[in-house]
Amino acid sequence: MAGQNADAAAALTVEPPSTERVPVRGTLITVAFKRSARARRISLRVDPAQGVVITLPMRGSRRAGLALLRAHEDWVSERLDALPQAFALKPGAILPVNGLPHEIVHLPAGRGGAWVEDGKIFVTGEPEFLARRVADCLKRLARQRLSAMAAATAQRAALRPKTVRIKDTRSRWGSCAPDGTLAFCWRLICAPDFVQDYVVAHEVAHLRHMNHGKQFWQLTDELTPHRPLATAWLSSEGVSLLRIG
Ligand SMILES: [Zn+2]
Repeated sequence: MAGQNADAAAALTVEPPSTERVPVRGTLITVAFKRSARARRISLRVDPAQGVVITLPMRGSRRAGLALLRAHEDWVSERLDALPQAFALKPGAILPVNGLPHEIVHLPAGRGGAWVEDGKIFVTGEPEFLARRVADCLKRLARQRLSAMAAATAQRAALRPKTVRIKDTRSRWGSCAPDGTLAFCWRLICAPDFVQDYVVAHEVAHLRHMNHGKQFWQLTDELTPHRPLATAWLSSEGVSLLRIG
């Protein structure tokens, strides 16, 4: 059964172990740690695709990497602000939906809000509302799809989520609260099928095991065959996806 305290739920993320959320100038950012046999010393860079990357020599500690980050917080935060949005929500932009590229098409005189059709995201109305309408549309899709996936996956393990919420988090893909409420980041609708499947299975498995113990991973693997690939995908592509919207 689920764990006893709410703090346990707060610790449940599907972020790969090679990343860490760190506050920089009041904003939580994702820092990716890389080990390199060739690196002679610890280095820090801000990369358009991966965000903040700290490269450690084989024997370098994460703590030393974080100390380097602390010493350069202003530089990091300026560089992050200067990065183009990974996927800007504007006409002509290409945004993944279920992992497939979709072009945002603005129909200023049209009606109907925003919808996804034939590999495109159509949006009507004033340009100043376009970004919000696209995000709302993706949130709606995320709610439909992830709720259905969670219900179906849970049923296979004779489990049932209390409810499924869609959240605007940038720090985690999903969570499971002790009361059985599952929550998913709406940006997960942009990820490929197999990644959605893994994140859903991971959180559903928490309905039975409120930890990351052996039995938890066993159940996760019974519910999805995609853990290895999805974990690798989240580690390399996930950060840019979290910057959508
Ligand atoms: Zn977890």
